[in-house]
Amino acid sequence: MSGERIEFPRTRGNLIVISGPSGSGKNSVLARVRQGVPNLTYSVSATTRAPREGELEGVHYFFVKHDEFVSRMEAGDFLETAEFCGNYYGTPRSLVERSLSAGDDVIMDIEIRGADQVRAAMPGAVFIFLVPPSYAELRARIERRGSESPEAVERRLAKAVEEIPAVFRYDYVVMNYDLGQAVDQIRSIILAERARVSRCDCGSFVRRFAPESPN
Ligand code: 5GP
Repeated sequence: MSGERIEFPRTRGNLIVISGPSGSGKNSVLARVRQGVPNLTYSVSATTRAPREGELEGVHYFFVKHDEFVSRMEAGDFLETAEFCGNYYGTPRSLVERSLSAGDDVIMDIEIRGADQVRAAMPGAVFIFLVPPSYAELRARIERRGSESPEAVERRLAKAVEEIPAVFRYDYVVMNYDLGQAVDQIRSIILAERARVSRCDCGSFVRRFAPESPN
Protein backbone atom coordinates (compact mmCIF):
# COMPACT_ATOMS: atom_id res chain seq x y z
CA MET A 1 0.00 0.00 0.00
CA SER A 2 1.37 3.39 -1.01
CA GLY A 3 -0.54 5.28 1.68
CA GLU A 4 -2.26 7.28 -1.04
CA ARG A 5 -5.92 7.91 -0.23
CA ILE A 6 -8.16 6.20 -2.76
CA GLU A 7 -11.76 7.35 -2.64
CA PHE A 8 -14.88 6.31 -4.43
CA PRO A 9 -15.43 8.34 -7.62
CA ARG A 10 -17.88 11.22 -7.34
CA THR A 11 -19.22 13.43 -10.08
CA ARG A 12 -19.26 16.53 -7.89
CA GLY A 13 -17.52 17.73 -4.75
CA ASN A 14 -19.27 18.59 -1.49
CA LEU A 15 -19.72 22.08 -0.16
CA ILE A 16 -18.76 22.29 3.52
CA VAL A 17 -19.86 25.37 5.42
CA ILE A 18 -18.31 26.15 8.79
CA SER A 19 -19.75 28.84 11.00
CA GLY A 20 -19.06 29.71 14.58
CA PRO A 21 -18.95 32.80 16.69
CA SER A 22 -15.95 35.07 16.51
CA GLY A 23 -13.43 33.53 18.91
CA SER A 24 -14.58 29.94 18.38
CA GLY A 25 -11.21 29.30 16.77
CA LYS A 26 -12.38 28.78 13.19
CA ASN A 27 -9.18 30.08 11.62
CA SER A 28 -6.84 27.80 13.57
CA VAL A 29 -9.11 24.79 13.13
CA LEU A 30 -9.53 25.40 9.41
CA ALA A 31 -5.83 25.89 8.78
CA ARG A 32 -5.19 22.45 10.27
CA VAL A 33 -8.14 20.76 8.58
CA ARG A 34 -6.98 22.05 5.22
CA GLN A 35 -3.54 20.53 5.71
CA GLY A 36 -4.96 17.14 6.59
CA VAL A 37 -7.60 16.60 3.90
CA PRO A 38 -6.76 16.17 0.20
CA ASN A 39 -8.94 17.57 -2.60
CA LEU A 40 -10.30 20.34 -0.42
CA THR A 41 -10.42 23.91 -1.74
CA TYR A 42 -10.74 26.81 0.65
CA SER A 43 -13.15 29.49 -0.52
CA VAL A 44 -11.42 32.86 -0.07
CA SER A 45 -14.01 35.52 0.74
CA ALA A 46 -14.09 39.13 -0.27
CA THR A 47 -14.40 41.68 2.52
CA THR A 48 -14.47 45.43 3.01
CA ARG A 49 -12.71 44.98 6.39
CA ALA A 50 -9.13 46.22 6.67
CA PRO A 51 -6.48 43.46 6.75
CA ARG A 52 -5.26 42.39 10.20
CA GLU A 53 -1.58 42.03 10.79
CA GLY A 54 -0.26 39.03 8.86
CA GLU A 55 -3.32 38.69 6.63
CA LEU A 56 -2.50 38.37 2.94
CA GLU A 57 -4.48 39.45 -0.11
CA GLY A 58 -5.95 36.44 -1.89
CA VAL A 59 -4.92 34.06 0.90
CA HIS A 60 -7.01 35.09 3.88
CA TYR A 61 -9.37 37.42 2.04
CA PHE A 62 -9.70 39.53 -1.06
CA PHE A 63 -9.69 42.99 0.50
CA VAL A 64 -11.93 45.26 -1.54
CA LYS A 65 -13.31 48.78 -1.30
CA HIS A 66 -16.94 49.25 -0.40
CA ASP A 67 -17.92 50.46 -3.91
CA GLU A 68 -16.30 47.49 -5.59
CA PHE A 69 -18.04 45.12 -3.20
CA VAL A 70 -21.43 46.67 -3.93
CA SER A 71 -20.99 46.59 -7.71
CA ARG A 72 -19.85 42.96 -7.62
CA MET A 73 -22.79 42.12 -5.38
CA GLU A 74 -25.18 43.77 -7.84
CA ALA A 75 -23.56 41.89 -10.72
CA GLY A 76 -24.35 38.59 -8.94
CA ASP A 77 -20.69 37.68 -8.40
CA PHE A 78 -21.32 36.42 -4.87
CA LEU A 79 -22.95 33.19 -3.77
CA GLU A 80 -23.90 34.92 -0.52
CA THR A 81 -23.13 38.13 1.30
CA ALA A 82 -23.55 39.52 4.79
CA GLU A 83 -22.77 42.57 6.81
CA PHE A 84 -20.90 41.72 9.99
CA CYS A 85 -19.86 44.26 12.65
CA GLY A 86 -19.87 47.11 10.15
CA ASN A 87 -18.10 45.36 7.25
CA TYR A 88 -19.32 43.44 4.23
CA TYR A 89 -18.29 39.87 3.47
CA GLY A 90 -19.09 37.74 0.44
CA THR A 91 -18.24 34.42 -1.18
CA PRO A 92 -17.11 34.71 -4.82
CA ARG A 93 -19.26 32.29 -6.76
CA SER A 94 -16.80 31.31 -9.52
CA LEU A 95 -14.16 29.42 -7.51
CA VAL A 96 -16.81 27.48 -5.61
CA GLU A 97 -18.53 26.34 -8.79
CA ARG A 98 -15.28 25.50 -10.56
CA SER A 99 -13.96 23.38 -7.70
CA LEU A 100 -17.20 21.51 -7.06
CA SER A 101 -17.53 20.69 -10.78
CA ALA A 102 -13.95 19.40 -10.78
CA GLY A 103 -14.96 16.97 -8.00
CA ASP A 104 -13.14 18.80 -5.19
CA ASP A 105 -14.79 19.62 -1.90
CA VAL A 106 -15.01 23.30 -1.03
CA ILE A 107 -14.84 24.53 2.54
CA MET A 108 -15.97 28.00 3.54
CA ASP A 109 -15.90 29.92 6.78
CA ILE A 110 -18.92 32.22 6.83
CA GLU A 111 -21.23 33.69 9.43
CA ILE A 112 -24.75 32.44 10.08
CA ARG A 113 -26.79 34.70 7.77
CA GLY A 114 -24.52 33.87 4.85
CA ALA A 115 -24.90 30.19 5.75
CA ASP A 116 -28.69 30.60 5.59
CA GLN A 117 -28.35 31.88 2.01
CA VAL A 118 -26.10 28.95 1.06
CA ARG A 119 -28.59 26.53 2.63
CA ALA A 120 -31.29 27.90 0.37
CA ALA A 121 -29.12 28.00 -2.77
CA MET A 122 -27.04 24.83 -2.50
CA PRO A 123 -28.99 21.70 -1.55
CA GLY A 124 -26.67 18.99 -0.30
CA ALA A 125 -24.22 21.38 1.35
CA VAL A 126 -22.98 20.26 4.78
CA PHE A 127 -23.21 22.68 7.70
CA ILE A 128 -20.87 22.52 10.69
CA PHE A 129 -21.12 24.83 13.70
CA LEU A 130 -17.97 25.30 15.75
CA VAL A 131 -18.46 26.49 19.33
CA PRO A 132 -16.14 27.61 22.09
CA PRO A 133 -16.33 25.64 25.35
CA SER A 134 -17.69 28.53 27.44
CA TYR A 135 -18.46 32.23 27.52
CA ALA A 136 -15.39 32.93 29.65
CA GLU A 137 -13.14 31.13 27.19
CA LEU A 138 -14.74 32.96 24.28
CA ARG A 139 -14.02 36.33 25.89
CA ALA A 140 -10.47 35.29 26.70
CA ARG A 141 -9.83 34.24 23.10
CA ILE A 142 -11.18 37.42 21.56
CA GLU A 143 -9.18 39.54 24.00
CA ARG A 144 -6.03 37.48 23.51
CA ARG A 145 -6.19 38.04 19.76
CA GLY A 146 -5.53 41.72 20.54
CA SER A 147 -6.51 42.88 17.06
CA GLU A 148 -9.66 44.74 18.05
CA SER A 149 -10.37 47.86 20.10
CA PRO A 150 -12.16 47.26 23.45
CA GLU A 151 -15.44 48.42 21.84
CA ALA A 152 -14.98 46.02 18.92
CA VAL A 153 -14.25 43.19 21.39
CA GLU A 154 -17.54 43.89 23.18
CA ARG A 155 -19.39 44.08 19.84
CA ARG A 156 -17.98 40.74 18.73
CA LEU A 157 -18.81 39.14 22.09
CA ALA A 158 -22.39 40.38 21.96
CA LYS A 159 -22.64 39.09 18.40
CA ALA A 160 -21.26 35.70 19.45
CA VAL A 161 -23.87 35.33 22.19
CA GLU A 162 -26.59 36.24 19.69
CA GLU A 163 -25.29 33.66 17.18
CA ILE A 164 -25.08 30.58 19.44
CA PRO A 165 -28.78 29.52 19.08
CA ALA A 166 -28.25 29.25 15.30
CA VAL A 167 -26.65 25.87 16.08
CA PHE A 168 -30.07 24.25 15.56
CA ARG A 169 -29.92 25.04 11.83
CA TYR A 170 -26.65 23.11 11.36
CA ASP A 171 -26.00 19.44 10.62
CA TYR A 172 -23.03 19.02 12.97
CA VAL A 173 -21.77 20.75 16.08
CA VAL A 174 -18.11 20.62 17.11
CA MET A 175 -16.79 22.00 20.39
CA ASN A 176 -13.37 23.56 20.11
CA TYR A 177 -12.04 22.73 23.54
CA ASP A 178 -8.94 21.03 22.24
CA LEU A 179 -7.71 22.14 18.81
CA GLY A 180 -6.48 18.69 17.76
CA GLN A 181 -9.77 17.03 18.67
CA ALA A 182 -11.86 19.65 16.88
CA VAL A 183 -9.70 19.23 13.77
CA ASP A 184 -10.05 15.44 13.89
CA GLN A 185 -13.80 15.68 14.24
CA ILE A 186 -14.22 18.05 11.30
CA ARG A 187 -11.87 15.98 9.18
CA SER A 188 -13.96 12.89 10.00
CA ILE A 189 -17.17 14.67 9.01
CA ILE A 190 -15.71 15.71 5.66
CA LEU A 191 -14.45 12.20 4.92
CA ALA A 192 -17.70 10.55 6.03
CA GLU A 193 -19.74 12.87 3.81
CA ARG A 194 -17.56 11.81 0.86
CA ALA A 195 -18.59 8.20 1.46
CA ARG A 196 -22.35 8.81 1.33
CA VAL A 197 -23.86 6.49 -1.26
CA SER A 198 -26.00 9.33 -2.57
CA ARG A 199 -22.87 11.34 -3.38
CA CYS A 200 -20.91 8.57 -5.06
CA ASP A 201 -21.06 7.25 -8.57
CA CYS A 202 -22.24 3.80 -7.50
CA GLY A 203 -23.95 2.94 -10.80
CA SER A 204 -20.76 2.33 -12.74
CA PHE A 205 -19.31 0.43 -9.78
CA VAL A 206 -22.28 -1.93 -9.54
CA ARG A 207 -22.07 -2.61 -13.30
CA ARG A 208 -18.45 -3.72 -12.89
CA PHE A 209 -19.70 -6.55 -10.67
CA ALA A 210 -22.43 -7.75 -12.99
CA PRO A 211 -21.95 -11.43 -13.89
CA GLU A 212 -20.62 -11.83 -17.39
CA SER A 213 -23.30 -12.86 -19.89
CA PRO A 214 -22.83 -16.52 -20.92
CA ASN A 215 -21.70 -17.13 -24.49
P1 5GP B 1 -13.37 38.21 10.57
O1 5GP B 1 -13.54 39.68 10.38
O2 5GP B 1 -13.14 37.84 12.02
O3 5GP B 1 -12.35 37.62 9.63
O4 5GP B 1 -14.76 37.52 10.15
C1 5GP B 1 -15.94 37.94 10.75
C2 5GP B 1 -17.04 36.96 10.43
O5 5GP B 1 -17.30 36.98 9.04
C3 5GP B 1 -16.70 35.53 10.78
O6 5GP B 1 -17.80 34.96 11.46
C4 5GP B 1 -16.50 34.87 9.45
O7 5GP B 1 -16.92 33.51 9.48
C5 5GP B 1 -17.44 35.67 8.59
N1 5GP B 1 -17.11 35.62 7.16
C6 5GP B 1 -15.90 35.55 6.55
N2 5GP B 1 -16.06 35.51 5.23
C7 5GP B 1 -17.39 35.54 4.98
C8 5GP B 1 -18.19 35.49 3.79
O8 5GP B 1 -17.71 35.41 2.66
N3 5GP B 1 -19.53 35.53 3.96
C9 5GP B 1 -20.12 35.61 5.18
N4 5GP B 1 -21.45 35.62 5.22
N5 5GP B 1 -19.40 35.65 6.30
C10 5GP B 1 -18.06 35.61 6.21
